[in-house]
Amino acid sequence: MSFSSLVSDMTFRDRGDREETRSQVSRARSYQSTAATSVSISGDISSQLHGGYSHPLARAWQAERQLTKSMLIYPLFISDQPDEDIPIPSLPNQHRRGLNRLLPFLRPLVAKGLKSVILFGVPIAPGAKDILGTAADDPTGPVISAIKLLRRAFPSLFIVADVCLCEYTSHGHCGILRDDGSLNNALSVDRISDVAMAYADAGAHCVAPSDMNDGRIRAIKLKLIESGIAHQVVLMSYAAKFSGCLYGPFRDAAGSSPSFGDRRCYQLPPGGRGLARRAIVRDINEGADIIMVKPASQYLDIISDAKELGKDLPVAAYQVSGEFAMIHAGAKAGVFDLKAMAFEATEGILRAGATIVVSYFTPEFLDWLSN
Ligand SMILES: [Zn+2]
Repeated sequence: MSFSSLVSDMTFRDRGDREETRSQVSRARSYQSTAATSVSISGDISSQLHGGYSHPLARAWQAERQLTKSMLIYPLFISDQPDEDIPIPSLPNQHRRGLNRLLPFLRPLVAKGLKSVILFGVPIAPGAKDILGTAADDPTGPVISAIKLLRRAFPSLFIVADVCLCEYTSHGHCGILRDDGSLNNALSVDRISDVAMAYADAGAHCVAPSDMNDGRIRAIKLKLIESGIAHQVVLMSYAAKFSGCLYGPFRDAAGSSPSFGDRRCYQLPPGGRGLARRAIVRDINEGADIIMVKPASQYLDIISDAKELGKDLPVAAYQVSGEFAMIHAGAKAGVFDLKAMAFEATEGILRAGATIVVSYFTPEFLDWLSN
């Protein structure tokens, strides 16, 4: 036996079984490594994706837009009955509240990171509704009172005021009507821009006309400019608001079902993608600061269109009452987990291009999200 063979033999015996195991591992690793990289070496290296998202944090980094608390706007229904606090049957966990009930409800949510609310007035008092929607900008009405109250109580809370007449008109339509029942656009725009101004004057950070009358964005912007407050009020346009059955629970909540006809003459037809694109472009040109698409999950293509057409504008999506109620119904029936589905639906909306989501899930998301 040569010297070198002897040394090698002794070394082998000294290491014993441990070394043998290591060499097996080494052979196994070598085999695995060869098998795994052979695809990359001989084929297309872009086939290797798993490494990029094997760790939970690496998975989070894959999201182009991550859901955060600051993206959420929570809808509130403000009753003209100060002490009212009534659950809305078709909207799980949502209530209609009077002014006296607002602060105790909101205080814990603000503490958890609630950043923004959108206000809808609900006039209930007998005689509160008329053909002009006079109660919409009543200085003692629920929305103007709530804007002032919330500004005082929560200085950092961003207040959006929905602007429309349908909650306040006796006929339930979103404007002023001609004798034949059709919308008088000129009068409606004049009235709606006055209402928007009243909310802005009361302290709303953002006014959001949802009426869909032609030319109302321009009218509101001009009045904001004339009164010298255009630089401090965000104008969010419900530019692409599609008609459909997903607003049912909202109409229950806001008491805004039309007494005759429907809103198909001014809300967009569900297949009207081209019309939505035209409305988005029109409202951008008229001075909108944010474009909204509504409903959200059913119109992800329109959200993408809004992002493409308004490259430098934030896009908001309203996850409407029917979308929310469907997710709750599915969870209640055991079809899926509520939290998982809420995330899936909302992250889908962000993926399509929205960076703002109006959602009834906001209180839950404040618990579910860390930032
Ligand atoms: Zn309306």
